[in-house]
Amino acid sequence: MLNVITIAEAQQLITEKFGQMRMPEEQVPLEVALGRVLAHDCLATEFVPNFNRSTVDGYAVRAQDVFGCSDSIPALLMQVGEAKMGEHTALKINSGECVYVPTGAEIPTGADCVIPLEDTEPLGDGTIAVYKPVSPGTNLIFRGDDVKPGDLVLPAGRRLNVADIGALAALGQTNVWVRQAPRMAVISTGDEIVAPGEPLPVGKIRDVNAAMLVAFAYSTGAVADFIGIIPDNLEAVRAALQDSLFGHDLVLLTGGTSVGVKDAVPQVVAELGELMVHGLAVKPGKPTLFGEVQGKPVFGLPGNPVAAYFMAYLLVRPLVASMLGTHFGERKVSLPVARNVPSNHGREEYVPVVIREGKAQPIASKSGLITTLANTDGFLCIPRDKEGLRQGELVEVTLFER
Ligand code: AMP
Ligand code: MG
Repeated sequence: MLNVITIAEAQQLITEKFGQMRMPEEQVPLEVALGRVLAHDCLATEFVPNFNRSTVDGYAVRAQDVFGCSDSIPALLMQVGEAKMGEHTALKINSGECVYVPTGAEIPTGADCVIPLEDTEPLGDGTIAVYKPVSPGTNLIFRGDDVKPGDLVLPAGRRLNVADIGALAALGQTNVWVRQAPRMAVISTGDEIVAPGEPLPVGKIRDVNAAMLVAFAYSTGAVADFIGIIPDNLEAVRAALQDSLFGHDLVLLTGGTSVGVKDAVPQVVAELGELMVHGLAVKPGKPTLFGEVQGKPVFGLPGNPVAAYFMAYLLVRPLVASMLGTHFGERKVSLPVARNVPSNHGREEYVPVVIREGKAQPIASKSGLITTLANTDGFLCIPRDKEGLRQGELVEVTLFER
């Protein structure tokens, strides 16, 4: 018999055991830092921008010189020069003067705003007519307006996205300190499992979990090695687990985690280390186990791919986040459920859903076929003490990342 606990209790045990584990730091070039987690706060060391800069093509002026001008009574200013892109502008303006400035060039000393070109007209003799006033500070960005040295730009624990990479480039950074990616070993077990690409005799089934869990690992910022498909016997599973502990920070096995005579994983984990959790009050995913071998976390996920997916998402993903010194957000939406969903087995239930016409449409997946999950938008959770869902009831849907 499985000694059943809830998902929340299992998450708590995992946190207590491994919550302090942090991956070491490493420095990587900015170009390959996407998706990596910052090991330190990232502070600016430069001004952005580094000089007072125009945001339009136009004339840099003193706002007081164009105050109250209009189409019928333009302000007339004398152009005393032109700012050049990429060059320091040594020009200075006094009252009644202006300087032409292209977008992004440095504005001259003395100017406090820029009049867009379309609101001006050169009168031919060096005089510029201005037809629309602007207030001080308009159409320019001052040195350090974006960022000043010492500003916190990105905090430790930040998982870098595309815009973050841009921000770091703006600050002149070429390398970043990040946490090393946890190395995950993925092992499939089962006499009936055949690798994709091999012939499929009757009675055998394709290895879904290997590819899926390797992809899962990368999605969390870990890296993964697939160790192989191991038959349902103690010696083979023991050897595979022992070997995989070298060079990996955590191990995911799938299949053979229940209490059948052929189910080797619980016994092997108990023998080599500590079997901490065996059996969860969850559907799908009951025959899930978790333990520690040689100080490393080892998960035995159910063979059923849908169950394996949910258990990886609920148990392994938060652990990877904590090893990286971050935590992953979830996007959730609240929607009415499209039909009644019975659920009275005393287990927390995870149900994949498709979002259609503003409703959460539950997708039944009796067979554990991964394709039922593949076309869904997210999932909902029915608490263990709740007797199903009533059509129209609001439910919280956790969205899958795309
Ligand atoms: P088990 O957890 O070993 O009892 O397996 C539960 C169900 O999942 C069985 O129908 C297995 O054939 C299937 N299964 C086990 N491992 C895999 C795998 N790697 N890929 C796809 N299905 C699997
Ligand atoms: Mg099996």
